[in-house]
Amino acid sequence: MASEKDAALAAMPSDSPTIFDKIINKEIPSNIVYEDDKVLAFRDIEPQAPVHIVIIPKVKDGLTGISKKHSEILGRLLYTSKLVAKQEGLEDGFRLVINDGPKGGQSVNHLHIHLLGGRQMNWPPG
Ligand code: 5GP
Repeated sequence: MASEKDAALAAMPSDSPTIFDKIINKEIPSNIVYEDDKVLAFRDIEPQAPVHIVIIPKVKDGLTGISKKHSEILGRLLYTSKLVAKQEGLEDGFRLVINDGPKGGQSVNHLHIHLLGGRQMNWPPG
């Protein structure tokens, strides 16, 4: 399996459709835990914790990383993260992660938040 860095570099830079577009369009199966008109949340295929959910905006529209124009959808993604954490029973706490760009370890070129929980988190992350 490619290293995190290799996977991140292979994903950059590109505006072409990603695996997440296929998940949004239901072209490939995923374990969806939350969906509304703007946001989709599904279980990560390679979970790094007992609960590992990826929360994404449904519209791509240049949403490769974070910028000023993403302010509104970022707020909505954060709020959805909290809803999903509650739904998953993570009352004792959870971690939200955004990997942005190659050095941030982003491997899928579509803005997303990782929701991790169900175990003690450590600091600093890798
Ligand atoms: P990133 O590395 O870009 O921050 O996070 C991308 C995440 O998407 C990774 O944790 C990876 O395991 C997950 N992922 C990649 N492809 C798929 C897929 O086809 N299905 C699901 N459910 N998760 C995926």
